[in-house]
Amino acid sequence: MVAYGLIGHPLTHSFSPNYFRSKFETEGIEASYNICDILSVAEIETFLATTPWLAFNVTIPYKEHIMSFMDIITPPAEIIGAVNTVVRKNNLWYGYNTDYIGFEETLLEMMAGMQGEAMVFGNGGAAKAVKYVLHKHQIPFTLVTRNALAEGILYEDLQEDHFNKHHLLINTTPVGMFPNIDQMLPIPLQFIKPYHRFIDLIYNPPQTVLMKHMAARGAKICNGYAMLVAQAEAAYALFPK
Ligand code: NAP
Repeated sequence: MVAYGLIGHPLTHSFSPNYFRSKFETEGIEASYNICDILSVAEIETFLATTPWLAFNVTIPYKEHIMSFMDIITPPAEIIGAVNTVVRKNNLWYGYNTDYIGFEETLLEMMAGMQGEAMVFGNGGAAKAVKYVLHKHQIPFTLVTRNALAEGILYEDLQEDHFNKHHLLINTTPVGMFPNIDQMLPIPLQFIKPYHRFIDLIYNPPQTVLMKHMAARGAKICNGYAMLVAQAEAAYALFPK
């Protein structure tokens, strides 16, 4: 039986195992989907040398570390600086990024008929794919972070003008995610208008407190679930079967 899987840590609440197992079942493919809890970067080399898996997904915290073990990295993954899908071909490891494909689907749906620039809250791992897609679609954006960056602004510096100019708002931070569902980024909500579109990459809970506030002020909202499914679908398409 062909084997696939997921590496990362921790893996207790991962979306992938159930998703891929039911996908194989639905499509009548005899395959197993396993998990490998990797506790340190040092374990990656041994894992790659011994695993029988044909392909696997990579989650936090190894999406960047895995890159140095790849034989070939596809251009988007190289530019983004993260690999979340690995495929074995002719005994070589190929690294791909499908997170950006997931975000791109959500973005295109949310920005239909929209004008204005984007504001990206947070600058961590998930923001990398978001920034790549915004560049790809030539959407100018401003980063908003809690610590000063060479490019970007701080939450406390947000003014009404920023919201008049940036109609697409994207949360790439975990603020508001389960179990801290009462938390919210310090965004001045009085400047939110019905023309704003808000994408929250969080999918648990389905509506963060920030999403609820945005919706209450008339903004169009979307959570990260469609992105999550779309990146998994794109990874599945890459799996050799
Ligand atoms: P990460 O690499 O740890 O980055 C988190 C970012 O959030 C950093 O920029 C961090 O700022 C910022 N941040 C953390 N706590 C903050 C706070 N209290 N106030 C302001 N900023 C804060 O995490 P990640 O991998 O990018 O994941 C972030 C979120 O995206 C998670 O909720 C994850 O579930 C979600 N996500 C969803 C999908 C999807 O398919 N829907 C895919 C990937 C990620 P500092 O640098 O200052 O610490």
